[in-house]
Amino acid sequence: MADLDVAVAGAGFAGIYAVHAFRSAGLTVRAFEAGSGIGGTWFWNRYPGARCDVESKDYSYSFSPELEQDWSWSERYPAQPEVLRYLNHVADRFGLWPDIQLNTRVTAASWDADQAEWTVTTDDGASVTARFFVSAVGCLSAYQVPSLPGLETFAGPWYHTSRWPADGVDFTGLRVGLIGTGSTGIQVAPEIAAVAEHLYVFQRTANFAVPNRNGATDPAWEAGFKADYRSYRKQAQKSFLGVPIAGTGRPALAEPPAEVQRTLMERWQAGGGMPFLGAYTDVLVDRDANDIVAEFMRDRIRETVADPAVAELLLPRTYPVGAKRLCQSDDYFAMFNRPNVTLVDIRSAPLTSVSARGLRTADAFYELDALVFATGFDAISGALNQIDVRGVGGVPLAGKWSAGPRAYLGVAPAGFPNMFIVTGPGSPSVFSNMVLSIEQHVEWIRDCVLYAGAHGYATVQAKPSAEDAWMAHVTEVAYATLFPLADSWYVGANIPGKPRVFTSYLGGVGPYRARCDAVAAAGYEGFALDRRLAMSSSVHPQAQLILDGMAAAGGPPIWEMTPEQARAVVTANNEHIGPGPDVASVRDVVIPGQAGGIPARVYSPAAGAPGVVVYYHGGGWVVGSVDGWDASVRALAVASGCDVVSVDYRLAPEHVFPAAADDAYDALEWAAGELADGRPVAVAGDSAGGNLAAVTALRARDLDGPALALQLLVYPVTDCDLDRTSYHEYDGAEFIVNRRDMAWYWDHYVPEPAARMNPYASPLRAPDMSGLPPLYLVTAEHDPLRDEGFAYADRMRAARVPVEHRHYGSQIHGFFSFVNLLDDADKAISEAGATIRAVAKG
Ligand code: NAP
Repeated sequence: MADLDVAVAGAGFAGIYAVHAFRSAGLTVRAFEAGSGIGGTWFWNRYPGARCDVESKDYSYSFSPELEQDWSWSERYPAQPEVLRYLNHVADRFGLWPDIQLNTRVTAASWDADQAEWTVTTDDGASVTARFFVSAVGCLSAYQVPSLPGLETFAGPWYHTSRWPADGVDFTGLRVGLIGTGSTGIQVAPEIAAVAEHLYVFQRTANFAVPNRNGATDPAWEAGFKADYRSYRKQAQKSFLGVPIAGTGRPALAEPPAEVQRTLMERWQAGGGMPFLGAYTDVLVDRDANDIVAEFMRDRIRETVADPAVAELLLPRTYPVGAKRLCQSDDYFAMFNRPNVTLVDIRSAPLTSVSARGLRTADAFYELDALVFATGFDAISGALNQIDVRGVGGVPLAGKWSAGPRAYLGVAPAGFPNMFIVTGPGSPSVFSNMVLSIEQHVEWIRDCVLYAGAHGYATVQAKPSAEDAWMAHVTEVAYATLFPLADSWYVGANIPGKPRVFTSYLGGVGPYRARCDAVAAAGYEGFALDRRLAMSSSVHPQAQLILDGMAAAGGPPIWEMTPEQARAVVTANNEHIGPGPDVASVRDVVIPGQAGGIPARVYSPAAGAPGVVVYYHGGGWVVGSVDGWDASVRALAVASGCDVVSVDYRLAPEHVFPAAADDAYDALEWAAGELADGRPVAVAGDSAGGNLAAVTALRARDLDGPALALQLLVYPVTDCDLDRTSYHEYDGAEFIVNRRDMAWYWDHYVPEPAARMNPYASPLRAPDMSGLPPLYLVTAEHDPLRDEGFAYADRMRAARVPVEHRHYGSQIHGFFSFVNLLDDADKAISEAGATIRAVAKG
């Protein structure tokens, strides 16, 4: 068994929430974090001026209404220390620390197909196994320092903004060179300029920036959004960017130019990138519309910067506004009016080398005491590629991604079973409010993991065809916009040699979430779910005792017996079960059937029972009886609180198909007509009795018979095909039933092989499953009938019939009836009973 259910790489916003979400779902989880503290981006990027450019009310977790009410942000746009404090508060508040391992970098993760688990190795030399591996390493974690000849000879200190010393840097009186004018450079520059003797800003590409209009939180504003936070979050989930912003809803090109200018100015004055760029619908798809906005922004730079030559250099002209991440700053452009700041154009005269005393460009030398690199990241794929991730057949993820990173729905790379990437390539991630997208991904992954467990699947992996189709869609959407026109990190253009691929989904957060939800609702469409490997779970010790007891008793296998001998053996075995619980009233009745009286027993646990269950015992249509199943049916009556009618239908070979099915249907009609008195009715049965229950449900639909509230099928026989994988896995003599036994049962019940294709014998073969009552399915792992149960559930889901499937991982065929002997029998009966009770009560 794996050490963990889920191993998580990283403990930033994503890893922290993953720990909480998985743990709350009852899964074992551990997050490994390279840093000495949590926070990821917000731990490492502690350079002066680091500040979020999404408003605090949006850039915060929404999963806990109490948390969002209790926490107060001090500013509209929170600074890095406050975000880090918030994340530590979350870890304290939800007690996450025991499941987060700091100072531990994940170095490798490899898929073990035999065990269906990941081995995750860390830089302390340790390794851990986990059923699922979740990457929460972030999109902007692998920082890059340009390879400048001579950097190692520089006499002063140099820093990358993403590895800033925790106790800060004092630039007082120093000549500082800053390389990089992206979001980071624009934030750090004014802070350095405020203390340095001189700041040289080395600019390769001039950038657009809108003002933040940051300020202290207005208590009235805070009270306002907190009063309706829940519905605000809902709007955010449906919005395009994960922040509900109000655009005009119109194209700029269709608006009078003066009106466009007025609108842009209004939004410029209000501050914030998203409302500004989102003002008009065509800005990011039409170059002419984009030019109007770009020129508006260039005018603001001309207005702000006193020296026209410097202003001219600062005017972005090489790409559409927004096609590189729009920067936000209240003081960057005005900073160039300071006498201690010099803008150096390294597009016309590139950097050439570093020496002990400073930086050389193609046409000058700059004497410097310290260097700051704000040169960005190997984005999206860089951090994950630093881990040696190996999937099926040992294929490295970095190799799979050599032509560009890809993953189905941006969350699951094909060829890497049970691996998920939070905000991975192909998801909205960096084009959205990251916190909201992280929550959506983590919750979706959690639900997928739970679904796999509940359905007994050992592995979940994206199909290559689904991944191909998704990434084609991602590309198609991207190329309908202006984004691919910029040499940005969005396309990998900032990393020499990186393939130029647009890997974020621009279809919008709301539509993306809807798509992910639809995939889940369809039983994880596009994923291959495989349960064969789940057999590695061993037989439950209590069940093993039963199997051992049967083996010790000796005797021939069922298929070598006569029906009379088999009935005697089953009767003797059932005596070991002992009595079931007391039931208030138990009476034997004879149901008038088409072919004569059908004996049955009615268990009434209490007066005023909310519903009626018609139960068909197992035994391969050849053996078994109401008496033999008395204990488990009593338990079901007690657990469900419903009247249960246990039916002694006619057995084969004396009465071949469709005798048992006819009796089963007659019993339903009687129960619905004579007993139910308007109360909801369900059919139920185990093994061959499950077959009869399924067939009865089909017939009731086909014949416009009694309406059914539920069908409870316990490891049912749904098909005559004895070649399914589970039949071969459990073909030995050591289990309750095997392939030859089942062939013997079928031979007696439906001697004519062609007749077995009849859906009233093999209900899996019904051409149409729609309109059937909801299915509650119980399956056991070590059971030849396992796979036909799963197949039945799949057909039901495909027909949009509600399915609740409980798979008991270490159990054997027949376990549901072994009350008194198996804890799982009591558990399964009480779980099924609770569902019947709830359904009966409506
Ligand atoms: P970035 O946007 O990639 O900017 C890197 C800067 O370094 C660019 O100006 C780039 O010039 C320059 N550069 C890179 N290599 C160079 C070289 N060899 N020689 C000269 N110049 C070079 O990186 P970032 O500013 O760290 O921002 C990355 C992302 O992090 C942002 O887009 C944003 O998503 C996020 N971020 C957000 C915030 C916030 O929330 N406020 C703050 C910081 C960062 P070119 O443009 O010519 O390539």
